[in-house]
Amino acid sequence: MGVKNCPECGKLFMENPSGLCPACYKQEEIYEHKIGEYLREFGKSSVEEIHKATGVKEKVILRMLKSGRLFAEGQNLVNYPCDMCGAPIYEGRLCSKCGSDFTKQVKEVWKTDERSVDSQRGVRMYTKDK
Ligand SMILES: [Zn+2]
Ligand SMILES: [Zn+2]
Repeated sequence: MGVKNCPECGKLFMENPSGLCPACYKQEEIYEHKIGEYLREFGKSSVEEIHKATGVKEKVILRMLKSGRLFAEGQNLVNYPCDMCGAPIYEGRLCSKCGSDFTKQVKEVWKTDERSVDSQRGVRMYTKDK
């Protein structure tokens, strides 16, 4: 445990599992509650819709999403745009179409570069290690 700068307000605080200072963490719990109520009422929604309805910053919604706090019964109710084409997605960074395009491209690169076998292994280990 060390001292960290809060990513929200920039204040120094003792590091904790939430990654936020106590004041911002409290605020985020209020946001989480708001978003939870919104999702119960409206069901599946996009980050943008939630932002407009609750006033919570998209950055904050995405952070909650990534830490699995907006999941209901193991299902993600909030979608956000694909990194490449902007299509709504519920997990990862790319939609299934861009994801498969990306995998194809990566495979092409691996085919032409024997040394990349090691980096492939590295990527797998990295993605598993959550
Ligand atoms: Zn803070
Ligand atoms: Zn896409």
